[in-house]
Amino acid sequence: MSLRDALRIDPGSKVDLASIDPDGTPGLPRRRRADKRWGRAELDVLGLQLASMQERLFATAKVTGSRRRVLLVLQAMDCGGKDGTVRKVAGTMNPQGLTIVGFGKPTPEELAHDFLWRITRALPGPGQVGVFNRSQYEDVLVARVHKLVPKRTWQARYRKINEFEAAQAADGVTILKVMLHISRDEQHKRLAERLADPTKYWKYNPQDIDERALWGDYQAAYSDALSACSTAVAPWYVVPADRKWYRDWAVATLLRDTMADLDLTYPPAEFDVATELARLG
Ligand code: AMP
Ligand code: MG
Repeated sequence: MSLRDALRIDPGSKVDLASIDPDGTPGLPRRRRADKRWGRAELDVLGLQLASMQERLFATAKVTGSRRRVLLVLQAMDCGGKDGTVRKVAGTMNPQGLTIVGFGKPTPEELAHDFLWRITRALPGPGQVGVFNRSQYEDVLVARVHKLVPKRTWQARYRKINEFEAAQAADGVTILKVMLHISRDEQHKRLAERLADPTKYWKYNPQDIDERALWGDYQAAYSDALSACSTAVAPWYVVPADRKWYRDWAVATLLRDTMADLDLTYPPAEFDVATELARLG
């Protein structure tokens, strides 16, 4: 079974996050379960494959005008590892072909528009690999948990998101949605680490403790979002994320397999090579 098959939320199925072990290592043989060294070495190999496919995607768009692009959507509870995943997985690729966007609390300008306005503007351009650090899903997660909008509003958003993603897919965007799934204990550990290390204070937000108190509400909101918005064209994957090395290996593998499906090749020369060699002398 491929890693995608092991981690995918089947479209139409009902997700219960509580049934997925955040400390698990699906897709790895038992002997690798604690093998961080192996995981890190594999990540290096995956990184080279990602960079190679990214270059072919970039080159094809540049030469042929193809609109193909890839979008990795990352969602997680606080301390779930979104930033680390960007660094370790996206960090293997050429910055020139990457479009990385983080979504925070909407600005007044963004609030004046539909919730998908800022998302649409942030989509990767042709040939780019985009990464969303948080996404349109915040509008059915934090917006629901904190009652920022009425229930009927966030409920209607699942369908709007599905339609939006289907339209993007039809326009050449290959969408890979990953939820990094950590346990409540792991979040505690990581928050404590931030508070114990002055070089990590900048990552800490006193609000994180308030959000932590709403853990159950968030897990329910995540379960519903994953259930409602895992579609054939843009499925959700849940990656157990208590082990950072497994998380990075799994996200990189999902991205590698997703990009491999695109059969990316280098564009052929749009000039006569022999003629150009002769001209070069
Ligand atoms: P961070 O990722 O740590 O920089 O935090 C970003 C914050 O912005 C988180 O608390 C998110 O819940 C919040 N945020 C992101 N998108 C939205 C949204 N659409 N509505 C309200 N808050 C949001
Ligand atoms: Mg934060």
